[in-house]
Amino acid sequence: MAYVFSEFSQPSVAVCNTSSRFPVRRIYLVGRNYAAHAREMGHDPDREKPFFFQKPSDAVLPSGSDFPYPPLSKNVHHEIELVVAMKSGGRDIGVDAALTHVFGYAVGIDITRRDLQQEMKLKGRPWEAGKSFDCSAPITDIVPVSICGHPEQGRVWLKVNEELRQDGDVSQLIWSVPEIISILSTLFRIEAGDLIFTGTPAGVGPITVGDKIAGGVAGVAEIEISVAGDK
Ligand code: MN
Repeated sequence: MAYVFSEFSQPSVAVCNTSSRFPVRRIYLVGRNYAAHAREMGHDPDREKPFFFQKPSDAVLPSGSDFPYPPLSKNVHHEIELVVAMKSGGRDIGVDAALTHVFGYAVGIDITRRDLQQEMKLKGRPWEAGKSFDCSAPITDIVPVSICGHPEQGRVWLKVNEELRQDGDVSQLIWSVPEIISILSTLFRIEAGDLIFTGTPAGVGPITVGDKIAGGVAGVAEIEISVAGDK
């Protein structure tokens, strides 16, 4: 079978301690999953059902890269997040079985064109323009469960030019990783290769060209990117 032009390369993320890579199928993200962040965005952090959005799989950008400042925004924000990497899946996965489908964990930054996201929210439009642009998902190597276990606690932090901006803990997740997987699987069939960004703690804020961003989840990994000019 021939394609009408050469096929795309499969987006993937390195797996630590191996030369094998994790092929990325879909990137799901949870909105507002830490109470203090929900409050800072003007929402009531009750346990209303989590909601999800997606980024394209080729939005992944390895830690250590230059992040190209995206076009058409004057207010680009960092959101540091624990990321779950799935090795299998299904539909209607029970909370008790959810973790058996997890390959490993990573640290990601859900980079957001906040001004465009706010405009879309106000107009009742989809969030893609704010969330799903090129290179909007910087991510570390994936750490297999055999190395990091299933993190239930651990500091989630982010610094911009050495200034601490975000400082939370995985234990503050409103919806836990097993609950997120279970609920997500009622909406979509989860498959091997799916990544799930689990939400960000309070302290989101703007980044500008020249900034050095560093962050991490204790017990998982640390991420670093430099903000470069738009290309
Ligand atoms: Mn986020």
